[in-house]
Amino acid sequence: MDADAGSPAESHEGSESYEVVVLGAGQAGLAAAHALVRKGYIAGEDMLVLDGNDGPGGAWRHRWDSLTLGRAHGIADLPGMAMPRPDENVPASSLVADYYGNYEEAFGLKVRRPARVIRVEGGEGGEAGVSDEGDRTGPLTLTVVLDERCTRITTRLLINATGTWTHPYIPYVPGIERFAGRQLHTADYHRREDFAGEKVLVVGGGLSAVQFLLELAPGSGVARSTVWATRRPPNFVDYTFDNSKASWGRDVERRVRDDTERGRRPASVVANTGIPALPEYLAGVADGTLVSRGMFTGINEYSVTFGGADGADATSLVQPDSWRPFPDGHEEAVDVIFWNTGFRPALTHLAPLHLREPGGGITVTNEVEVVRDDRVLLAGYGSTASTVGANRAGRLAGQVAARRLAG
Ligand SMILES: Cc1cc2nc3c(=O)[nH]c(=O)nc-3n(C[C@H](O)[C@H](O)[C@H](O)COP(=O)(O)OP(=O)(O)OC[C@H]3O[C@@H](n4cnc5c(N)ncnc54)[C@H](O)[C@@H]3O)c2cc1C
Repeated sequence: MDADAGSPAESHEGSESYEVVVLGAGQAGLAAAHALVRKGYIAGEDMLVLDGNDGPGGAWRHRWDSLTLGRAHGIADLPGMAMPRPDENVPASSLVADYYGNYEEAFGLKVRRPARVIRVEGGEGGEAGVSDEGDRTGPLTLTVVLDERCTRITTRLLINATGTWTHPYIPYVPGIERFAGRQLHTADYHRREDFAGEKVLVVGGGLSAVQFLLELAPGSGVARSTVWATRRPPNFVDYTFDNSKASWGRDVERRVRDDTERGRRPASVVANTGIPALPEYLAGVADGTLVSRGMFTGINEYSVTFGGADGADATSLVQPDSWRPFPDGHEEAVDVIFWNTGFRPALTHLAPLHLREPGGGITVTNEVEVVRDDRVLLAGYGSTASTVGANRAGRLAGQVAARRLAG
C-alpha cells in the first residue's frame, strides 16, 4: 500500500485505546471533535484527535500566500466560534491556521500531531495485521507514525476526516513521461515569481486554474505567456458567492450524494459549482487570459498536441468568448505544464477494511455513515467535501458516533 512507503520500522511499543478517534483536524475533523465534546467526550481520555500536519489549519495551512478569503474563496465558521476576518488580503493559510489553533485550544481538543495514520485494520492488529472483510464487530487498530516511530492505537469507532489535499490528481496523457520541461500540481504552487520568463500551460477548469491564469498573466510581468487547457468549455455561471442563487451548490451536492448513496466514485462538489461572474474574471475573458484552447491529447518533449475538444455549442455558454479550442493536431510549445486537475479523497489507509464497491466508490448513507462498516464514519467525503458540507458532516458524524457508542 503506498501510504506505507517510507514508514519507519514498526515497533508498536505500548498501545492506547479510545472509544472514538477523529482522524484529521481540518474543518470536518474539528467540527466532529466539537460535537463529541458537546456530548461529554474528553480529549485524551475517551476520544483522540490525530492529524498528520505539523500544526493547525488542515489543508488551508498549505495554501499559497496569494490565496485570500475574498469573494471567490470562502470558509464557513466552525461550530461554536466565529472566525475573525481582519482583512481580505491576509493569506488564508495563516488566518485559518491561527483560527483553527485557537479553536483547538478553546475546546480542549488536544490534537496529537504530526501523527500520520498509515493503516486501519479490523481486530486487534496482530503481527501480520488483520485484514477485515468479514467480522466487523471488534475494535479498529490504527497504525500511526508518531515521533518517527510506529505505534498502534485501538478504537471502537473512527471518524475519518482526512480531506483530499494529500492526494493530488494528474490525469495520464500519452507522452507525459517524455516532457522535458517542468510539471507541477496545484499542491506544489508557492509564488508566481517561480515562473519568471516561462510559457505556462495551465490545465483544468476550476477556480484554482482561473486564479493562477490571472496571477501569471503576461501583464503581471512574471510569466512570458500563458495558455489555458480545459476538457470542456469553462463553466462560468452568472452569479457570485455573495450574490448567490439560493440553490447554488445544493443541486451539485444532491447529485454527488446520489453517487455516494449508490457507491459510485463521487465527483468534486467544489469543482462543479462553477466560475462566478466576478468583474476581474470577466475582464480576463475579454483580454484573452481566460480563454480555453480545449484539451491536449499528446505531450511531446517541449510541446503539447491539442485535439478532440468537446464540441459544445459556444453560443449556449454563459461566457461564449471563453471557449476557442485549437484545431485538432495543433502543436503548442510550452515550458511548464501546471496541472490544476484536482484531488482525490485521501483514503488509502482504509484499504484493509475493504470499504470500496466494485465501481471504486464507498457507499455512504445519511452523508457520513459507511454502509459496509458501522465502525467508520466519513466526514468531508463526497457531498460534504466543501466548506459548508465539512461543518455539516463533522457535526453529524460526532452525533452519530455518540449515539452508536451509547447504544
Ligand atoms: C485550493 C483550494 C481552495 C478551496 N477553496 C474552497 C472554497 O472556497 N470553498 C469551499 O467550499 N471549499 C474549498 N475548497 C475545498 C476545501 O478544502 C474543503 O471544503 C474543506 O476545507 C476541507 O476540509 P476537510 O476537513 O475535509 O479536509 P482538510 O482541511 O484537508 O483536513 C484534513 C486533515 O487530515 C489530515 N490527514 C490526511 N490524511 C491523514 C492521515 N493518513 N493521517 C493523519 N492525518 C491525515 C491532513 O493533514 C489535514 O490536516 C478548496 C480546496 C482547495 C484545494
